[in-house]
Amino acid sequence: MKIATVVGTRPQFIKAMMVSKAVRKNHDEILIHTGQHCDANMSQVFFSGRGCPAPDYYIDAGLAAPGRQLAKMFDGLKAVFEWEKPDVVVVYGDSRSTLAGALAASKTGIPLAHVEAGLRCGKRAMPEEFIRELTDYLSAILFCPSEIAVRNLNKEGIINGNGAASGKETDTVRFRGSIIVNVGDVMYDALQECLNNGNCSPPSAAGRLPEPGEYLLATVHRAENADKKERLSVILESLVTLGEKVVFPVHPRTMKRISEFNLGGYLAHPNMVVIDPAGYDEMIWLCKNARKIITDSGGVQKEAFYLRVPCITLREETEWTETVERGCNVLVGCDRRLILEAVGASARGDWSGSPYGQGNASWLISRLLEEYFCPR
Ligand code: UDP
Repeated sequence: MKIATVVGTRPQFIKAMMVSKAVRKNHDEILIHTGQHCDANMSQVFFSGRGCPAPDYYIDAGLAAPGRQLAKMFDGLKAVFEWEKPDVVVVYGDSRSTLAGALAASKTGIPLAHVEAGLRCGKRAMPEEFIRELTDYLSAILFCPSEIAVRNLNKEGIINGNGAASGKETDTVRFRGSIIVNVGDVMYDALQECLNNGNCSPPSAAGRLPEPGEYLLATVHRAENADKKERLSVILESLVTLGEKVVFPVHPRTMKRISEFNLGGYLAHPNMVVIDPAGYDEMIWLCKNARKIITDSGGVQKEAFYLRVPCITLREETEWTETVERGCNVLVGCDRRLILEAVGASARGDWSGSPYGQGNASWLISRLLEEYFCPR
């Protein structure tokens, strides 16, 4: 079986790392990097050492404006799919690269597999939300990370088994909702591997880092926060008034905006420990040793949950609703009062159980791809 995997952003490199390892045991995989994230510490760092295998194709769409970027990715992916003729295309999450992969697979008539299918936050205005919806609609096989994700699909009329009588014929499985499986979260697999193999280690800025347990970890990168001067100012102002050390690995998009909006003064505050984006193993170390985590990242919300670190989410809604229902994560938007309250509150979450699977999502995905798409 030949699998074409599309990646382009940091969280996709992390998710694909685990699935690639599983599928490459028995099958051919072509990895295509769209170039959406192209800074060294957002991209290259995830392809060295034990990370993602090196890409077979690089599309270099990263520096183009959004519409042009999507078009470049689509054209590049379509050409690769036509040339390589894979049995299935695998896309991850909810970025522009995901959508480009979904469109190019549909255009070339190749069945599409979506990893992290069915996630919804209910906010259609977010680009990530409509990318998730469109990708799910186009997918032949939908790998959900949770039962709630399966229910979200069902509510939208994407039901397991519809569109394909046997689910095994390449022509028929292209119809939406053919196969829906709750496999759990591939990021849980990655985290467990990192912890079990002792890979988790402090970043090279370690000399400047506060002691474990004596800092808050913050990440900000969503367009709704980073691209709006008012929201970004409130968030940065809140971070420096918390009265605690805040370790802040700054996403390039956020750094660009901080500079454009003239907010650099906040980064120079003595409470702020500003570092470059961390590698994955270093980031897990930072999460594990934080007193609390303040973030607008989807992946970091879950990592906080897995590591039993209380999370404060700088959004009004989340796709990872289980973490909020259990009191392990609190949604504060960019409300200064709510941020301060949440940082001061005692942690009373329920971290028991395993709403996002057993840490074997990558293996399940590989097995199901083989079952449905291996040429007979
Ligand atoms: N991450 C990382 N270095 C950092 C910040 C985040 O390796 O400096 C990891 C993080 O641990 C998680 C993933 O990147 O696994 C989340 O990606 P991001 O926050 O960029 O995107 P999102 O999850 O919101 O789509």
